[in-house]
Amino acid sequence: MQNRRAVVVGAGVAGLASAIVLSKLGWRVALLERRERLKGEDLGMVLWASGVRALRALGVDAQLDASGTPVDRFEIRNEDRLSSSFAAAMLGADDGTPSVMVHTAMLYEALVSRLGDNVQVHPATQVDRIDMVDLAAGDASRRWDAELVVAADGIDSPTRPLIAPGSPTVDAGVVCFRGLVPAHRAPERTTDAVEIYGPDRRRFGYGDLGHAGACWWATVPGGMRPESPQIQYELINRWFADWPDPVGKFIAATRPSELTQQSVRYVWPIPPVLHQPVGQGGLVLLGDAAHGVAPILAQGASLALEDAVTLGWALRRTPESVPAALASYDRARLARIKRVARLSRRVHTIASGGRGMTKSLLRAVPDSWVQNQAASLSDWQPPR
Ligand SMILES: Cc1cc2nc3c(=O)[nH]c(=O)nc-3n(C[C@H](O)[C@H](O)[C@H](O)COP(=O)(O)OP(=O)(O)OC[C@H]3O[C@@H](n4cnc5c(N)ncnc54)[C@H](O)[C@@H]3O)c2cc1C
Repeated sequence: MQNRRAVVVGAGVAGLASAIVLSKLGWRVALLERRERLKGEDLGMVLWASGVRALRALGVDAQLDASGTPVDRFEIRNEDRLSSSFAAAMLGADDGTPSVMVHTAMLYEALVSRLGDNVQVHPATQVDRIDMVDLAAGDASRRWDAELVVAADGIDSPTRPLIAPGSPTVDAGVVCFRGLVPAHRAPERTTDAVEIYGPDRRRFGYGDLGHAGACWWATVPGGMRPESPQIQYELINRWFADWPDPVGKFIAATRPSELTQQSVRYVWPIPPVLHQPVGQGGLVLLGDAAHGVAPILAQGASLALEDAVTLGWALRRTPESVPAALASYDRARLARIKRVARLSRRVHTIASGGRGMTKSLLRAVPDSWVQNQAASLSDWQPPR
């Protein structure tokens, strides 16, 4: 079992996590990334208890390593009143695992520091060919032969069509602006993760990142804005003028250069299979490449980490057969992925409805339903 070779395409959360898992199992890993550097963005994100459990299984403590701040309560508000609120503790009730807000760049750093000696990183490598006969991945001038190719190349994965041609990326019809405010300028420290649903299908959320500052995210209908950061900033000010405190304070505390704009898309339908055997080995999809979900429930990174931990479990279970391990991986992952993807899409559709529809649904949905759904999203445990 010595010197087994794997190629991981993409060094996002999913690629880094799977490289860690494979390296721990003794595989020699070539990690191919098109960007020049392995670096996460200056953003904040929610990592649910399920994702925190997956991180721990990789040897990363979200709180210590990734500047994670435990979330006390999740709150959903209409702009005029609280709609739903539940203690985050109930999500990790079984084992007390917290959900956390993490600083994305620090999460990346924590993962990169765990890569280990078996992983060779090849930055500035844009994979544009996967050989499905003699399994290998490569770019215009190089080729990496492998027993296992892990495609963790993100939501626009050029690899996904090889396995699941009927699962395209769908435009969600909204765009998200995210801000990260340094600690000394953060207007409000809160242990809650709050999202406010307002008029015209706009939403604004915020949370705390401890010494890394505070973060906010603003979702508005439409496509990516072509204007300069300064003009985008002015538009955000206009769109969220008159919103309740502390929305204006967060925006005022942010500089245009601290804004990031992201298109919002998801994979639909979810691929019916996530892998393809090739000879004695195989190709497998992980993370957004497999199942980019609508980000409204903040599940994508957690799912990516769970994928990697489950791949490690499957390869440990049947070390003698990669195809058998990949089949176990599919069986272990698909039901959960589909459940999360369906719920994320449904909630996204509700949130994208007209003002009246969203508002009355927010009023009508009982707290207990929201809590049960949230608990079922975060109940994942690493397989044994
Ligand atoms: C607005 C927004 C808010 C979000 N908020 C949250 C949140 O709060 N919580 C949460 O859990 N998730 C959140 N997500 C989702 C989360 O960011 C993603 O699910 C997660 O980052 C997916 O990781 P990944 O590694 O699968 O893909 P990516 O992070 O996209 O990584 C893919 C990597 O592959 C590389 N790559 C691509 N093609 C090639 C190629 N051909 N050759 C070599 N390298 C290649 C890319 O450069 C990249 O580094 C949010 C997403 C959005 C859009």
